[in-house]
Amino acid sequence: MTRRLFSIKMRASRGEKHISGAERIVEAASLGRFTDALLERAMHHANGEPDFVNLKFEAVAPNNIIEFDALKVRTVEVASAADGLAEMSRLLGSLGVSNPEKAVTLLSNLSNMRGAAMLDADSFERLEPDCERGVRVTNLDDSESAQKGASCVKNHYAEAIVLATKVANAPGIVAELCISDDPDYVTGYIASKELGYVRITKLKEAGSPKGGRIFVFRGTPEEKLSTIDFLQKQCVLVRGIKPVAPAKHTSRVDHLKDELCELRGDHLFREMVAVHGEVGTHVSTDDGDKLMLASNNYLDLAFHPEVRQAAADAALRYGAGSSGARLVSGNLEPHRRLEEKLAEFKGCEKAMLFNTGYMANLGCIQALCTEDDTIFSDELNHASIIDGCRLSRARVVVYRHNDMADLENKLAANPGRGLIVSDAVFSMDGDVAPLPELLRLSRRAGLPLMLDEAHSTGVLGKRGHGICEFFGCDEKPEIMIGTLSKALGAEGGFVCGSRELIDFMRNKARSFIFSTALAPSACAAAQKSLEIIEREPERVAALHENVRFFSGELAGYGIKTQDTSSAIIPIVVGDEETALAASRKLFERGFFVSAIRFPTVKRRAARLRVALMATHTSEELTQAAQAIADVIG
Ligand code: PMP
Repeated sequence: MTRRLFSIKMRASRGEKHISGAERIVEAASLGRFTDALLERAMHHANGEPDFVNLKFEAVAPNNIIEFDALKVRTVEVASAADGLAEMSRLLGSLGVSNPEKAVTLLSNLSNMRGAAMLDADSFERLEPDCERGVRVTNLDDSESAQKGASCVKNHYAEAIVLATKVANAPGIVAELCISDDPDYVTGYIASKELGYVRITKLKEAGSPKGGRIFVFRGTPEEKLSTIDFLQKQCVLVRGIKPVAPAKHTSRVDHLKDELCELRGDHLFREMVAVHGEVGTHVSTDDGDKLMLASNNYLDLAFHPEVRQAAADAALRYGAGSSGARLVSGNLEPHRRLEEKLAEFKGCEKAMLFNTGYMANLGCIQALCTEDDTIFSDELNHASIIDGCRLSRARVVVYRHNDMADLENKLAANPGRGLIVSDAVFSMDGDVAPLPELLRLSRRAGLPLMLDEAHSTGVLGKRGHGICEFFGCDEKPEIMIGTLSKALGAEGGFVCGSRELIDFMRNKARSFIFSTALAPSACAAAQKSLEIIEREPERVAALHENVRFFSGELAGYGIKTQDTSSAIIPIVVGDEETALAASRKLFERGFFVSAIRFPTVKRRAARLRVALMATHTSEELTQAAQAIADVIG
């Protein structure tokens, strides 16, 4: 469908005095909302009450729109205005401008200019046809707000990036330099296609009304005219802007804004999608119904009627919470029953619950290891394992992912007490740890083996019992961690092992000891899920079949998937921005697929992570594979 876009321009004045001005490019359907917002802005401005407001609406021809990706933002912290100006000169010099100080000095002496000064990059001659008025940049907006009518409120930060992006993409522009004329706002920037948008935290003294904007240009007089034409007339929409409030350094937590700004600039800022109602293969969001391909609810048990009923019954019978830590007053029947069931399901002597899988990893590693230990940890282990290692204060030796030769060498080079720890199924790669080899090496080194079965319980093996069933291994790792929050559709974590191990954890694992026991409803839900998995092994088989089918569909588009034993299928795209854009496009087309980025995975190893469910239909998977192939080209 072609977009019907309109430009709205607002100018407000009182007598000869300009009060405020703004413009937006918005979807025709949102014109009303934006008109209200712009009028509001015109009528209530710090510069005074207007006696004349002009609103102009013009349809924008679809072929007169160019979209650009927003410049990457980074912030340079400086101690003084002099340092800030020196940094700006240095950056301008790096773009091949000789004598950059001259341009920066001119910038800091500008005042009262409505438009920008345009300077020749080599002669520093002023190029704008009307030096009082300067060059004005119009016909530009944030692509997102044009589409969704997102923000009607003035956001200086977003507006600055939109403008800087258009200017940086104009022909012949070497750089843009800007210092705000707002006496309270001392942060400014230098922007160019090469540098991105570099915020410099101090460029003038607070209270100074000086400031302005300079476009540094290189080209012939004819090229200059076409650049000015582009800046004024070409309609430009800028993609990928996340508005944040500008840093004004008025509170003691202002530095957080700068960090957030950097995260946004690096495409690493995280946001949540609101999901409404049922959490099955389809979910309802503010943007409509989506096919869920990002959930841990692998066996579709979270919304299963029997599971929900069991949770509801337990809440009615035992209460909403367990009212105390297990070791004090919160050791209820649903906890004890579920621990027995988990031990049986995993084929161990005993099990013990934690409130989450994260807390299980944290608590168990902290309990087992001290600064006298060495922990051998796979480089792709889950964050909760990494955090457990840190908490234990043990020495950590990281071995290459699933590389048993590397582990063997590192074990040999670091004898002594310790632990080997690995995910059973790697959460962001979906591949399986080589259990038989790990067991062999742990035996040889005389170290216990700990495996995190978060993504393998209910998934691996014909009956979903996990990694030991998958490999047909009778021998078990000494410590097996799991979560109730994924295939079991509830929440909570657990550890399984020998009676002594569990006695030890009950006495030593601080995340168990010092936290209120899991809600009885979560225990009852997980208990019911385990019963259903045992009663209906066809659910597990359906999940395996879906993984096989979907990988085949992807392969049909030339997209290779590595290990297809788990429910997790990563499609590595590398660049964070590309992964995020692909995930957004899929979302627009009705597919909920997460973009996984640093620090969850390494930098430049960003990916789409598809998580399949037993109940996805083959038509849904065919459509999903096609959409993925489309968006990643
Ligand atoms: N371990 C792994 C491998 C995981 O992927 C996760 C969840 N992302 C956890 C542990 C933590 O489990 P929980 O969500 O129950 O805290």
